[in-house]
Amino acid sequence: MDYQHIVVLTGAGISAESGIPVFRSETGLWENHRVEDVCVPSALVRNPKLVHDFYNKMRSGLKTKVPNAAHRAIAKLQQEWPQRGGSVTLVTQNIDDLHEKAGSMNVIHMHGELNSLWCTACGKRFFFDGESSPDMSCPYCGKPTLRPDIVFFEEIPYHMDEISAALSRCSLFIAVGTSGVVYPAAGFCQYARAQRALCVEFNLERSAVATNFNYGLYGKASITLPAFVEHLLRTGEPLTQQ
Ligand code: NAD
Repeated sequence: MDYQHIVVLTGAGISAESGIPVFRSETGLWENHRVEDVCVPSALVRNPKLVHDFYNKMRSGLKTKVPNAAHRAIAKLQQEWPQRGGSVTLVTQNIDDLHEKAGSMNVIHMHGELNSLWCTACGKRFFFDGESSPDMSCPYCGKPTLRPDIVFFEEIPYHMDEISAALSRCSLFIAVGTSGVVYPAAGFCQYARAQRALCVEFNLERSAVATNFNYGLYGKASITLPAFVEHLLRTGEPLTQQ
């Protein structure tokens, strides 16, 4: 089997068609907030209420969001590729829960999850889908030291060892809806290429890092990705053009 181990990396673009806005790297704004006000560690010290409220609003918005055909295609690949002796590792930069809602298992959330809180005193992380505040007590240690379980800029993403291990054995690397400006995820393609993996990007248009990939399939991921997955499952070969 030529493409036994597949790594899929997803970014904000895959959830755009489900109504979750992407990050505007050209303006530095995320949901109309400056990144330095809501997505860096010092923001939690300066204005913790603003940070909690920002993620509360996004978290409550998740409840009505549903996965689209691109999320479902990845879940299908994860279910069916192992039946042919392969494996699919799904790494997402997204903090939403649309992969899980689409039926994906073992999603690696390298930038954390909206539906999770983290206690910086006792280190516990736990599922949470309500409204948090800076004075809320940790249910485990009782201290008011909870924060959204989101990896901020300047912080190290989660699960990097697991991701490196998957990339080092991958033969097909697929990046979906990611602009390639946020590191370390932006460097995964070069790492996979160095392992001789075939690298394919799915985006509306060529991204800033398009030349790192062997080729790209351009258009809405809800159209391009299901076609790619169906072809791969049918023939064992990646589709090279639509
Ligand atoms: P990004 O916002 O920087 O880039 C999104 C990319 O997706 C763009 O290149 C855009 O052209 C492409 N795109 C938009 N719609 C698409 C579609 N329908 N089909 C295919 N491609 C499409 O996203 P990023 O690279 O993931 O970096 C943003 C950071 O912000 C991430 O680290 C993430 O944690 C965070 N973020 C997460 C969410 C989420 O959880 N859904 C949303 C916004 C931002």
